Amino acid sequence: MIQIAVYGKGGIGKSTVSANVSFILAQKGKKVLQVGCDPKHDSTRLLLGGQEQRTVLDYIRSTAPYDRKLEDILMNGSNGVRCVEAGGPEPGIGCAGRGILSTFDALKKLGVDRIDTDVRLYDVLGDVVCGGFAVPLRNEYSDAVFIVTSGEFMSIYAANNILKGLRNFDNGVPRVAGIILNSRGNEDEYETVKRFADAVGLPIVAAVPRDAVFAQAEARGCTSAELFPDSAAVGEIRKVADRIIGIMDGEVELHHPSPLTDAGLSDYAKGLPVQPQKS
Ligand code: ADP
Ligand code: MG
Repeated sequence: MIQIAVYGKGGIGKSTVSANVSFILAQKGKKVLQVGCDPKHDSTRLLLGGQEQRTVLDYIRSTAPYDRKLEDILMNGSNGVRCVEAGGPEPGIGCAGRGILSTFDALKKLGVDRIDTDVRLYDVLGDVVCGGFAVPLRNEYSDAVFIVTSGEFMSIYAANNILKGLRNFDNGVPRVAGIILNSRGNEDEYETVKRFADAVGLPIVAAVPRDAVFAQAEARGCTSAELFPDSAAVGEIRKVADRIIGIMDGEVELHHPSPLTDAGLSDYAKGLPVQPQKS
């Protein structure tokens, strides 16, 4: 089994990309489990006909340990993708990062490792890479990490922070798979993201255009991969799925995290040349 983490700023398109990638991988015959790690708890909705699923945190809050069963928090989505949603605390009470830790702990105790899976995909909020949200970055939970960003500075800033978090877990084995550009449709967006990608020594593995297919598919509670398989946008997301298969087959190079320093990021924001970072 391979474990993949998809990180990025809130609202950047992580769940859209993740659900489509999971759907495509399942279409290619892989057994996939997608775990939403965002208090927004809508990671798996495009795989579940737009339906919300019971979150792990709600479940452990309301169910005594001896009554808990994995089937209660595991739903079967389209193409047989298994779906889990971590959930989050009540706003203003509790800690979302801590919730991720509790979720991972509960999944382990409920026997998630016994489920026959080829790809486990964690879809993780990356705005704040605190101890909890960094759990899926640990070596034991991700063999490869993709970072989703647009050309907007705040999302590049989050991408750089995720690389900083990853560097803290770097044990010499490269694990960064690359950047997924999910376009906002801004001018020179590809060039803007390419400049960052070059500075941190990462490939742009897919450049997903801003496209109305996503809203149309979402309105029907489905992935675009299911409804619009021939669209250019799905063609780009397919590159991510193919890359995951390439990683599984040992044919794709992974990278060490080499985040920009604060000064480097500030130069980048000003449009000044940024030297590639040494890892
Ligand atoms: P995240 O999981 O990062 O919070 P979502 O995947 O939920 O973000 O996406 C947020 C919204 O943006 C959704 O309504 C989604 O349909 C839309 N969206 C994502 N990517 C695109 C795109 N490339 N083109 C158009 N809309 C998009
Ligand atoms: Mg999401």
